[in-house]
Amino acid sequence: MSTDEAQRLRRLTHADRKHLWHPFTPMDEWEREDPPLVVERGEGAYLIDVEGNRYLDGVSSLWVNIHGHRKEEIDEAVRAQLGRIAHTTQLGMANPAAIELAEKLTRIAPAGLTRVFYSDSGATAVEIALKMAFQYQKQRKDPKPEKDRFLTLNLAYHGDTVGAVSLGGIDLFHHIFGPLLFQTMRAETPYCFWCPRGAAHPPCSVCSGDEITHHIAENAPHLAAVVVEPMVQGAAGMIVQPSGFLRKVREACAEHDVLLIADEVATGFGRTGPMFACEHEGVAPDILCLAKGITGGYLPLAATLATEEIFDAFRGPPETGRAFFHGHSYTGNPLACAAALANLEIFEREDTIQNNQAKITHLWSELERLKASPRVGEVRGLGWMVGVELLKEKATKEPYTPAERKGRAVTLAARRRGLAVRPLGDVVVLMPPYCVTNEEISRMVEVLEESIREACAAD
Ligand SMILES: *Cc1c(COP(=O)(O)O)cnc(C)c1O
Repeated sequence: MSTDEAQRLRRLTHADRKHLWHPFTPMDEWEREDPPLVVERGEGAYLIDVEGNRYLDGVSSLWVNIHGHRKEEIDEAVRAQLGRIAHTTQLGMANPAAIELAEKLTRIAPAGLTRVFYSDSGATAVEIALKMAFQYQKQRKDPKPEKDRFLTLNLAYHGDTVGAVSLGGIDLFHHIFGPLLFQTMRAETPYCFWCPRGAAHPPCSVCSGDEITHHIAENAPHLAAVVVEPMVQGAAGMIVQPSGFLRKVREACAEHDVLLIADEVATGFGRTGPMFACEHEGVAPDILCLAKGITGGYLPLAATLATEEIFDAFRGPPETGRAFFHGHSYTGNPLACAAALANLEIFEREDTIQNNQAKITHLWSELERLKASPRVGEVRGLGWMVGVELLKEKATKEPYTPAERKGRAVTLAARRRGLAVRPLGDVVVLMPPYCVTNEEISRMVEVLEESIREACAAD
């Protein structure tokens, strides 16, 4: 590192600590620790900091990056759009990129989702889904205004705006806002490793979907919708639903006249293997929430897709006030839509979903070796989504205490070895961008193994 670079890092670190407020971050700890990783550039699967150090981007820049950084076709699409216009409103006008993207999304989405409503983050995609479902029940052909509540899973995460937090079930994030939230109904999450019933899997009524089916049947007269993260509950720690669960939820919703909202903000765009996680179970939701990977990890964009039947409930003369009164200043932003279009074109041209298969297989065969560690309780996930749950004592299933900050310690050790990852509590997450090579995958797992050994050695 030259003295200029060292000076620059010192100056940036000082200004960061003076003026920034980082998300989900205990800021005291942030200020005390080593200088932050200040990322200036990216290249494929690598992040490059202001000193020129390279780090494998082990969590795809918080689950958003798809084909890698500086992907030429996406760079070019954004530049070309910039040469036309950066932003124009969706209120009272339209733009080609948003139109073409809507066509494309409805073509690749599960069957029946014909309408696209844009916003700019996963949380807003979920807020929109909630409001759509709520208003739909009041305005449908056979109005059901008493269907005004939502059923979600324990440990759910749907974003950080107040409506999304109302659906959430992660105490650490959500508890303090309790008085601000609307009430939701809860079903148990199938989470065998920490099974709330102490039951073996299978058979168990939570895992089989019988329990949630019962909830849906019982509460149907008051339920507008069930909201799920299909197949993988990401933020909860990469909890994977047993096969058949999602299908059961879909069938129960259909049978009892309850909408199914699938939040594929994390799982969408190939993250679990197929383009959408719903495909694992041959399920089509009534409303689909997309964000994170939609632009390839380039720009903030989200989409809430709905069926024509839902859309039709919002038709009527203007004076009846049946329209969907929701929108954001940057709804349908052309730059973001251009990036998303280029992202989806790469999926087609490079046959990404098919080509990912071999890498995913390699990833899971490499992960096998972590299972031998006395500090690893479970390695779980689906496709590119991996959670490594640390334990203080594997034999007795004794967890670390939050004060030990063990997940964080492992990620700091990984960073010293050139791997950027971020934990969810004591679950270390790995979610590489799809451009990684098998060698880079092996290196990521090797670094995780070494970092767990180092950070957990004395326990
Ligand atoms: C990340 C995430 C969200 C929130 O997305 P933001 O873009 O951060 O608002 C919502 N749902 C799921 C399942 C997520 O993983």
